This record gives sequence, structure tokens and C-alpha cells, in this order.
Amino acid sequence: MTLPSTAREIRLASRPVGFPTPEDFALAEVAVPAIGDGQLLVRNRVMSVDPYMRGRMNAGKSYVAPYEVGKALEGGAVGEVVASEAAGFEVGDTVLHGFGWRDYAAVDAAHATKVDPEAAPLAAYLGVLGMPGMTAYVGLLEVAAFREGDVVFVSGAAGAVGQVAGQIARLRGAKRVIGSAGSDAKVAYLLDELGFDAAFNYKDGPVGELLAQAAPEGVDVYFDNVGGEHLEAAIDSFNDFGRAALCGSISNYNTTTPTGVRNLGLAVGKRLSLRGFLVLDHGDVREAFLREVGGWVASGELRYRETVTDGLERAPEAFIGMLRGENLGKALVTL
Ligand code: NAP
Repeated sequence: MTLPSTAREIRLASRPVGFPTPEDFALAEVAVPAIGDGQLLVRNRVMSVDPYMRGRMNAGKSYVAPYEVGKALEGGAVGEVVASEAAGFEVGDTVLHGFGWRDYAAVDAAHATKVDPEAAPLAAYLGVLGMPGMTAYVGLLEVAAFREGDVVFVSGAAGAVGQVAGQIARLRGAKRVIGSAGSDAKVAYLLDELGFDAAFNYKDGPVGELLAQAAPEGVDVYFDNVGGEHLEAAIDSFNDFGRAALCGSISNYNTTTPTGVRNLGLAVGKRLSLRGFLVLDHGDVREAFLREVGGWVASGELRYRETVTDGLERAPEAFIGMLRGENLGKALVTL
């Protein structure tokens, strides 16, 4: 493959206040990066846009360093090795790594994972068989300690993590799986394609009322992608010894006036467990996750959707659209 002389990357132009706008991003032309010993040059083919990236756009201390203004963004990507200075990697290999938001990336081999392009579509390694799918698996099974017969409520249920979490619960023998999402089309997807027992559009009324109607016997496990009013509703609906996996709180990512949870006092009398987690702490379950979820994907028992935007220059649009709920399933950008 002949390499072009220039490559492109998307930089953070300014730190967003509230919802990001296209002006917070800048497309820049750069030289194709040179690689050194132990590195690979990767032509990215597909990249992920994820909610956590919004947090990295803010200044301040977090579990991962903030993006720097004027520098390229980073994130999950899959691409083809076009030059290698690292033992064990050859031109033509396909790798998963953390330098998306650019078409060519110089990647330390130590931070690249070979994936098999024949075993699954490249995009699956960023979605159902990648970080979001594993988040669903870890959150439901390890963090919320799901048990057969539980009533499970999943918020953000039609998104990358939620669509997998709800189906794992169904396939592992939940008594009832309830999902919430932000449009009627997403609710129909949950009910008609994914086999949820009940689902509601959280924009139709107070979440507490909608959940109480959907869960007449209460909730045992809550997979929380949304936080705020959804978490409050789940606490109200929890049965005794209910367990929440606190995965994310996207309802508060793009607001300067976050909503709190006012009914935490109920956690005492109901003996609730509310546990935050990060998927990156749970590498030990990767093999079990790939075996079980990979098996369900291969057999067609677990379904998933992706919303794909084509073109690096449209990555900011795809990211903002994902934050606004325009994606069904995993939001991705092909390059
Ligand atoms: P996603 O669900 O595919 O996309 C984000 C979705 O959030 C949107 O499609 C939108 O769907 C929903 N949303 C946006 N604003 C909302 C609001 N105000 N209220 C309710 N829903 C809103 O994203 P994902 O990658 O699967 O991530 C889901 C959650 O998991 C996020 O909170 C993310 O930060 C978290 N996460 C955590 C970990 C971890 O290790 N803890 C790892 C991965 C992801 P609607 O149309 O339904 O509103």
C-alpha cells in the first residue's frame, strides 16, 4: 500500500460548556506519523464515539486524563497495520487500539490487540464484542450480581451497553426485563427485536411513574446508564436487597445544572447495594465474556444494532448525535 504524504485528525478546539457544538472540534491536516522501534503505523478503518469522551473534554481530575485543547482526541479504533517496527505484528494485521479520531495512528505494539477480521465484522470489536458489550456483562453479572429470576431494569436500553445488558439478563433467565429509552422507535426495538418484557419512552412522563407501571412487582437489579431521575425512580421501585450497577449518568454529562438523587434514604430500609464500576478494572472476565456473549451473537440469540456515520470529518457530528440520542445501538464512524 502506498502511503499518502498527509493524514487527518480531529482536535479538541475548545472545552464544551453544556452540549458540545461543532465549533468545539477542528479537523487538521498533519504528516503521516513516523513510527519508532516497537511501534505500528495503523490505517484506521472504524472508530468509536463514546459517552465517556464527553467527560474527557472537561478539565479536572478524573479516572482518565482530560483531552488537551489543540491536540487530537483519542478513543477506540480498529485498523489495518500498514507498517510495523514491532515483533509479532505484520503489515496486513488488524488491530484494536486507543488512537481513533485520526485516519493514521502510530501505536505502541504494547497497546495494540490483534483481532480477527474473519471472525466478526470490525465494528463488532468496538461494540457488542468490545468495551460496551463487556461493560454490560461485567455490570450485570459481577457488579449487580444478577441471579436467575431477578426483575431487571436497564436505562439507556437501546444504546451500545444497554442493548447487550438487557439481553444478557433475558438469556440468563431474568423473570422480567424492563428497558427505558428516549423514543418510541427505540421502545419498539426493545420489545419487538430484543425480547424485553416491557419498555417505556422516558420522555412520556415522570420516570418514577412509568417505571412503577412497567414493574408492578418491583425491581431487583437496576443497570444504570443514565443517573438522575432514572436512578431515583429505580430506588423507589427497588425491592428489598435490590442491587444497582452504576455504569454511567449520561443525563448529567451535558448540563451545567446536574440533577441529584433525593431518595437515597430508602437505601437503608430496603438494604440496597448501589455500586459504581469501571469496565477497565475487570479484564479478568474478558474470556468468559467473549465465550458467552460471542456464542449468543454467533447463534443469533443476542441481536445488536449499530449507527454508522461515514467519514472522519463527520466524527464530531456522530459524537454529538450520540449524546443527543440519535443512535440506535452502538455509534461508530467508518474512515
Ligand atoms: P449509548 O447508550 O449507545 O448512547 C448514549 C445514549 O444515551 C443516547 O443514545 C441516548 O439515548 C441516551 N441519553 C442521552 N441523554 C440522555 C438523557 N438526558 N437521559 C436519558 N438518556 C439519555 O452509549 P453507551 O456507550 O452504551 O454508554 C451508556 C452509558 O454507559 C453511559 O452513561 C456511559 O458513560 C456508560 N459507560 C460506562 C462504562 C463503565 O466502565 N462504567 C463503560 C462504557 C459506557 P436515548 O434516546 O434513550 O435518550
